Amino acid sequence: MTQTPDKARPTPRAGIMDIEAYVPGKSTAPAGVAKVHKLSSNENPLGPSPKAIEAAREVAAKLDIYPDGTARRLREAIAEVHGLNPQNIICSNGSDEILGLLAQTYLAPGDEAIFTEHAFMVYKIYIQSAGALPIAVKESEERADVDAILAAVTPRTKIVFLANPNNPTGTYLPFQEVRRLHAALPKTVLLVLDAAYAEYVRRNDYEAGIELAGSSDNVVMTRTFSKIGLGGARIGWMYGPMHIVEAINRVRGPFNVNAMAIEAGIAAIRDRAHVERSIAHNEIWLSWLSEQMTGLGLRVTPSVGNFLLIHFPDDQRHSAAAADDYLTARGYILRRVSGYGFPNALRMSVGTEEANRGVVAALTTFLKS
Ligand SMILES: *Cc1c(COP(=O)(O)O)cnc(C)c1O
Repeated sequence: MTQTPDKARPTPRAGIMDIEAYVPGKSTAPAGVAKVHKLSSNENPLGPSPKAIEAAREVAAKLDIYPDGTARRLREAIAEVHGLNPQNIICSNGSDEILGLLAQTYLAPGDEAIFTEHAFMVYKIYIQSAGALPIAVKESEERADVDAILAAVTPRTKIVFLANPNNPTGTYLPFQEVRRLHAALPKTVLLVLDAAYAEYVRRNDYEAGIELAGSSDNVVMTRTFSKIGLGGARIGWMYGPMHIVEAINRVRGPFNVNAMAIEAGIAAIRDRAHVERSIAHNEIWLSWLSEQMTGLGLRVTPSVGNFLLIHFPDDQRHSAAAADDYLTARGYILRRVSGYGFPNALRMSVGTEEANRGVVAALTTFLKS
């Protein structure tokens, strides 16, 4: 196509403008609402570890100094807590960044990468950014379906992204199923186990993927500090085989994790009491919320995360959109999930006791209206 000189301008690579930009959870309510409860991004209602706040405050005085580009001390702290070799860990600016780096490193135009129907939307964005083809496969009862994933594998498949547990459904694959998937995948396909909610899962048949990533050449596990109290600090990490670590480290920005994140992260992961308190709070309120919503006649997808997918009735007056408006007007910010294939559901993060009780009370009135 010829362009007239005055219209000439830089153009993005083919496919970039086909990407639908990620829409984050809302964080504001209309003016006049006394108190806003943000339940839209699966943050920790108990907040950051007080030790992480203190560590960030201390490093604030030294912000003129570049951080350690390899985040060595943070990797060592993670390794110590999880019993890993720090060499096999890469830290990142949120786990989003490491997911993007994996796509950038292992996908070329014409390649395919697989994820599931209702999976976390960031995968598709990074696959398209790399010029590769996003392949969404059907789930079964709002859960990843190993057979459907395997049936979608072609000679062009380079990555399978599996969120376990998944967001926004909160469902998980027992590890036996993950192993079955891995065993049947070609050795050349990279299996990315995104275990963003691993801390919260309380199931005997669940594993985040440490053992599989530690014993296979084609598996990595990604994790995040975001859902356990440090969403604003942006800290994620990956654990995987050395050959993948070495490839990613060539592509990674030299100082991708900032000094405040490094210090806050080290303090947070060592504060096991705060992590345990957060998990205990979640266990109580996740099941309370599920029971209450079910009692209101709303279907909830069984969740093992720190959030709940709530499905609304078919009638217009009580739709998810109407519920969202009703709750927002009262300061309860939930997450619309139409973009995830759930036009009539809302995702609610487990909140403080006050927020949880408030949402249930508001929905009780809303459903009677
Ligand atoms: C929140 C989330 C992430 C990443 O979060 P970061 O804040 O970038 O670490 C990754 N995967 C899933 C499934 C998530 O829900």
